[in-house]
Amino acid sequence: MKAIVKKFPGKGFVLDEVEIPKIEEPNEVKVKVLNASICGTDLHIWKWDEWSQERIKTPQIDGHEFVGEVVEVGPMVKGLKPGDIVASETHIPCGVCKQCKTGKMHVCKNMKILGVDRDGVFAEYVVVPEIVLWKLDPSIPKEYASVMEPLGNAIHTVTSVDLRGKTVLITGAGPIGAIAVQVAKISGAATVIVSEVSEYRINMAKEMGADYIINPLEKNLVEEVMKLTNNDGADVLLEMSGNPTALNDGIEALTNAGEAAILGVFPTNPVPFAMNTAVFKNITIHCITGRKMFETWQIASEWLRTKRIDLSKLITHILPMEEFEKGFELMNSKKSGKIVLKISE
Ligand code: NAD
Ligand code: ZN
Repeated sequence: MKAIVKKFPGKGFVLDEVEIPKIEEPNEVKVKVLNASICGTDLHIWKWDEWSQERIKTPQIDGHEFVGEVVEVGPMVKGLKPGDIVASETHIPCGVCKQCKTGKMHVCKNMKILGVDRDGVFAEYVVVPEIVLWKLDPSIPKEYASVMEPLGNAIHTVTSVDLRGKTVLITGAGPIGAIAVQVAKISGAATVIVSEVSEYRINMAKEMGADYIINPLEKNLVEEVMKLTNNDGADVLLEMSGNPTALNDGIEALTNAGEAAILGVFPTNPVPFAMNTAVFKNITIHCITGRKMFETWQIASEWLRTKRIDLSKLITHILPMEEFEKGFELMNSKKSGKIVLKISE
């Protein structure tokens, strides 16, 4: 089968011919991949940055966001059959650790990530355990379904805070921050302010329905938020840029006893953080990882089925698998929303 493979340590991927994976465990499902979307993590692996050099073993098939058709099921698979259309959680939980057993599977101690710890989905076929697959409602377009995973990140972040009637500041309108604008509105936010530095993504945030957009390279973010809130500050910060300045300005722009939900992953650990500001303002901070399994998926499905969420504006490019290089260059330039690769018909 065709697959986009990190064949050697170094920048880029190779479109290669590899063996079709086989079902090896009774709970596994073989899926024909229809569409797969490119995520920031794939871009890290493409660039071969420090994180990927430490984490990724070559050769390995990349990719984790996908939608596909079930073609074969292991003998213990109960809920799926050939022909079913599925999207997938990309975090594969062990099912037996303390977190898994207490309803926190998304932070499983033995988590394996598709396309990071094992072969991924930029390939014609993938084999995964049944637990991670999410059967799609037929009304959800297949073009959209690979993007349910990053949509889930936005939903997990937004729903960690009660937004009803609140003024929300979203720092960073990449694909996740942009769709979070819609999610925040559905969740009852009164006003959504976005801060973003890329012109392309400022426009994307506008299309998503942001009420105000501030470019912090042109204007002082804290002053602008204060002006918009009668000098009070935003009630909630949703940090979705992974930029330490955005994080600290976001905290500074909060009202006293405000809340922050942080999804962004920062370039250094520890991150320089204005902790005293957060302490004296009595800010509650929620740190967010992945998607709740599977509450977030249930919410995403229903909002897509009932058309309350519109992903059409978020997916800016659909490319054939062979043009993956173009997709990665586009992602890298930040002149895109979500990029979907068509793997098979
Ligand atoms: P992205 O990198 O495409 O988007 C980040 C956006 O922030 C970009 O559009 C960028 O222009 C903007 N930005 C950069 N500096 C800024 C600044 N100072 N002020 C305002 N905006 C700024 O990423 P994404 O795919 O949309 O993901 C959002 C963040 O969430 C990333 O940091 C990503 O690593 C992280 N993430 C976390 C999890 C998790 O489980 N915690 C999962 C997925 C993604
Ligand atoms: Zn576990």
